[in-house]
Amino acid sequence: MDLKDLYRDVILDHNKHPRNVGRLCPCDTSAEGHNPLCGDRLSLTLRIEAERIADIRFEGKGCAISTASASLMCEAVKGHSIDEVDALRTNVHRMLTGAEEPPPAIGKLAALAGVREYPARVKCASLAWHTLQAALQHRAVDSSTATVSTE
Ligand code: ZN
Repeated sequence: MDLKDLYRDVILDHNKHPRNVGRLCPCDTSAEGHNPLCGDRLSLTLRIEAERIADIRFEGKGCAISTASASLMCEAVKGHSIDEVDALRTNVHRMLTGAEEPPPAIGKLAALAGVREYPARVKCASLAWHTLQAALQHRAVDSSTATVSTE
């Protein structure tokens, strides 16, 4: 099977049937993300238990790449420790911005590797991860909603 076709199918599938859509209420932390270049908007709510992401949901309006990326991210981070998620985010960032091949541990997130050939779409793919980082960093500060813009 052609890997490029497989990856395209993963993105199309997650755009059409996004996982973990919705809003957790109550939640332990949340953040709003905005990518003004494309108009993507994303809202994340998380439940944290014992330094693990116990649950995560997203709501948003955006292009296929931003929706698929948010859906894939929620699936990938749910149940994982915040340290593991930090490491994963670093790998995703390298994959999206660098020439490195995605490490095997990245799993289905490798579907997004193709966007690095389209610099304007990198922000669509990374919006979910920037928003997640904002939510996790913000958690310790106060209980209002963090906002992040990729601009
Ligand atoms: Zn976009």
